[in-house]
Amino acid sequence: MRETVTLNNQVEMPILGYGVYQIPTGDTRRCVLDAFQAGYRLIDTAQHYGNEAGVGEAVLASGLPREDIFLTTKLQSNRNVAGLIEASLQKLRTDYIDLLLIHWVMGNDLATYRVMEDYYKQGKVRAIGLSNFYGRDFEQIINHCEIMPAVSQLETHVFYQQKDARAFYKKHGVYLESWSPFGEGKANIFQNPMLTSIAKNYGKTIAQIILRFFIQNDIIVIPKSSWKERMRENREVFDFSLSDEDMRNIEAMDTNKSLFGWPY
Ligand code: NAD
Repeated sequence: MRETVTLNNQVEMPILGYGVYQIPTGDTRRCVLDAFQAGYRLIDTAQHYGNEAGVGEAVLASGLPREDIFLTTKLQSNRNVAGLIEASLQKLRTDYIDLLLIHWVMGNDLATYRVMEDYYKQGKVRAIGLSNFYGRDFEQIINHCEIMPAVSQLETHVFYQQKDARAFYKKHGVYLESWSPFGEGKANIFQNPMLTSIAKNYGKTIAQIILRFFIQNDIIVIPKSSWKERMRENREVFDFSLSDEDMRNIEAMDTNKSLFGWPY
């Protein structure tokens, strides 16, 4: 199975990446280097996480060609957007960001998006998109933008599968990217009886079953772990596939409800 997707502007993006939310600044360099070693090339950070500099240090220290790495970051404010993008470029030690998202609805989002479009046209950002934009907020951007969002990052796990958003995005050529694919471990997800029984049948872990479920649905995923072993485990999802029946069993776990109270 392909390990990348082709976005609506032909940019190739890994379907499985590594998220660094809640990784302390001091640990980020080590974690991202471990992630690179485990084979991840997509790194998902944000200005709000305060650890872009650690990601940048790892990019530099990795010795990997920049074009082999895919960096996502997210804007944390609608003020001085150009200045914020420049600061991210500096912290990430790069000339370009692969994917830039507005982190959440902040007001004046269309104006923010226009600045992102400008950076896109300059080639300093390779793809742009939105995160935590639902309903009218999302439509307001796509109805008025010049460059369609390539990616929409939303809370997506087996209890909140974003089926409505997915149907809508399909019409508009937008890729869904799941944040918190494990729901941060809430709702006893790692003890869930259905997932336990499926995992047993494939000789895989619950984490691997969850990630495989999203990848098979063409959804980009960015699980987080600070542990090398789990980083590796979370990447070992390209050597098996779930049967149609198991895909349906997991689909039936959807409650269509956020575990974190989104949308705010
Ligand atoms: P997650 O759902 O990826 O859960 C991470 C937790 O799951 C870990 O801390 C660990 O406790 C556990 N875990 C990971 N691998 C495991 C394994 N193999 N076995 C057992 N337990 C395991 O949570 P997350 O970090 O919130 O989400 C992933 C990424 O999504 C973030 O790091 C961030 O990049 C992104 N994110 C974005 C937003 C947004 O608003 N756009 C919000 C939250 C997260």
